[in-house]
Amino acid sequence: MSRWNSGVIHHDLIASISKSDLMERDCPYCHTKSPFYFCSKDYNRRITQETFDHYRCPQCKLIFISPIPEKLAHYYPEKYHSVPKSVEHLDTISKNEDYKIEIVQRFSEKGRLLEIGPSYGGFIYLAKKAGYEVNAIEMDSRCCQFLNEVVGVNTINSDDAIEVMRRHKEQYDVIVLWHVIEHLSNTWLTLDAVYASLKPGGIIVLASPNPDSLQFKIMGRYWPHLDAPRHVMIVPMKLLAEKLELLGMRAELITTKDEGSNYLNIFGWKHYFRRRISHGHIRKLVSKVGRLIAFMLSPIEKIEGNGSAYTMVFRK
Ligand SMILES: [Zn+2]
Repeated sequence: MSRWNSGVIHHDLIASISKSDLMERDCPYCHTKSPFYFCSKDYNRRITQETFDHYRCPQCKLIFISPIPEKLAHYYPEKYHSVPKSVEHLDTISKNEDYKIEIVQRFSEKGRLLEIGPSYGGFIYLAKKAGYEVNAIEMDSRCCQFLNEVVGVNTINSDDAIEVMRRHKEQYDVIVLWHVIEHLSNTWLTLDAVYASLKPGGIIVLASPNPDSLQFKIMGRYWPHLDAPRHVMIVPMKLLAEKLELLGMRAELITTKDEGSNYLNIFGWKHYFRRRISHGHIRKLVSKVGRLIAFMLSPIEKIEGNGSAYTMVFRK
């Protein structure tokens, strides 16, 4: 039956039209009409009081912000990257990232390695030390200066990795994107360009927040790893694996149980409570409560699929 009757609007029926009927966006991956999911804010950094509309594709389950803010760089504060003071300082803090180099070495022992979005370079420094021939593309100019001048890693300052890869036409054995794809509005094209820049047999290594995680089910729009508006999309593991397989790659590793994911489980609980409190000493207390909950739930979060983030390795 039509919602309209002889041109007269029935207000009770109009009221029954839900927000999701009125608000739909085309999925940026599969183009299916996707209903409004929820509204979120910059709960993590409080740079803005703006709200950001998220949509979830009923087909591929991609979660995406629409519209993506025009000036995304505005939401990255100057101190987003804590650039170390020296190589010695970098050497100390990069120890947390040892697990990343161990993952890469399991699948590619040596060769040419490109990192997209290295920040100040904890991982790429370790890759260089491990004997890989390294290059990087980074949008933050302070990080680029540190990597080029202090660490000695050839780093191109650009927010357009696709253009750089196409222009340079370099071929790599390994391309890594640690927690990068969720920041991109052109994720699929970036993956196409990564594929084109890999040698046959080369690997792509990436990590990203897991929308099927236990935490997201509990915290929803308050989940710290949603990180609106800097994370413009949250990509399900299944969808990403499908995209990489369509490119002709095969899975070598898909996990939510690696050390990085385990760390982000604790981070998620700690910050879920902490960021709601502004008083210093109470914040410390709620951080401890968060850690305690993380400890109690860790057996469940460590079940494959439940972790806050996933890591994938695919081979061309
Ligand atoms: Zn979709």
